[in-house]
Amino acid sequence: MELDDHAEELASDLGVDKEEVKSDLQNLVEYSVPVDEAKQSLRRKYGDGSSSGGGTPSAKNVADITPEDGSVTVTGTVLTAGERSIRYQGSDHVIVEGQLADETGRIDYTAWEDFGLEPGDTITAGNAGVREWDGEPELNVGESTALSFESDSLEVPYGIGGEAELADLEAGDRARTLEVAVLDCERRTIDGRDGETEILSGVLGDESGRLPFTNWDPVPEIEEGASVRIENAYVQEFRGVPEVNVSEFSRVTHLDREIDVGSDATTMDVGEAVRTGGIYDVELVGNAIAIRDGSGLIQRCPECYRVIQKGQCRTHGDVDGIDDLRVKAILDDGTGTVTAVLGDELTEDVYGGDLEDALEAAREAMDQEVVADEIRENVVGREYRVRGHLSVDEYGANLDAETFEESDDDPAARATAFLEEVDA
Ligand SMILES: [Zn+2]
Repeated sequence: MELDDHAEELASDLGVDKEEVKSDLQNLVEYSVPVDEAKQSLRRKYGDGSSSGGGTPSAKNVADITPEDGSVTVTGTVLTAGERSIRYQGSDHVIVEGQLADETGRIDYTAWEDFGLEPGDTITAGNAGVREWDGEPELNVGESTALSFESDSLEVPYGIGGEAELADLEAGDRARTLEVAVLDCERRTIDGRDGETEILSGVLGDESGRLPFTNWDPVPEIEEGASVRIENAYVQEFRGVPEVNVSEFSRVTHLDREIDVGSDATTMDVGEAVRTGGIYDVELVGNAIAIRDGSGLIQRCPECYRVIQKGQCRTHGDVDGIDDLRVKAILDDGTGTVTAVLGDELTEDVYGGDLEDALEAAREAMDQEVVADEIRENVVGREYRVRGHLSVDEYGANLDAETFEESDDDPAARATAFLEEVDA
């Protein structure tokens, strides 16, 4: 059924103007409220006591809420409450997102109005909408919700305040509090929704691992080498890995203590790593089975820095390319394959020469493919231990290598270990 038909049905049931109902319905649907729930909420708004919407829904424990519940009344403790700005119908709105918990469980919520929720508050949300997000129920607290603050606080078996380690973060997390070291930080100008803006991007680290971040509204506390506490960060997936987002609503303060950043990357089978869909810092071991086209001596566009073919950039046309070195090596460990992408420095190591040497060799042979051929000869057939940042997307599984070292594993010992595993 089209939105128009839904509006028609509602208008005739409720005896109100169709255009008015339609515009309300459109608003709710644009907020990702499921259409059935939106209709119920409008029936309440226009006072149709006769149908399902009438009265306050019965109270439920958090664990018993399912996506099938149109709306519920629930009492719980606010674990986290993070403001975020969304653009809606051309203007910015501030919403609050977080988690609510009782003794039985936790549930994500979105508050569409400013109720002044703070972590630690115990509230009763009468007639909160329930929608499904990623197979899980989520609460919508809005105009039609009767929200009250309870004076008796509820004992809940969860931490209040959203403290997390980097390794625990997942895309979709809201209102997280982190204590991290800024390992890498650069200022960039981007074309934002309001024109050119400056942002900071880089890498954060803690005892558990490392993750990339973006600070959309640069604060002076975030600089390379600093230890900071970040409150109200949210997490989004960017190129297959979770990225920490620090917004204008985040609070960043200096920490007096040093953060001990773990140096061990997760080691995984290639197949297992690819199935995760992307990991920021991972170590893989595999045999180099081939060197892909676009390896060796290459040329990049001076505007966008992408690799160009025969002096032609796909975006900028005929350009005067910049020479560079790169390797794309296919690694296989029997469980899967991944393309390890080596930048200029790692390429120099496996080539055994620098850019000048490569240009010289290409001039002599009158063919720049000789550089890739040399690398192929040095690398293919050997086993490597690679650490870097794995992304899995429409371009395949690519591991942006930070280190690329010939594996020093003793093949005989590995074979023995493998046989023991098979026997066990
Ligand atoms: Zn270009």
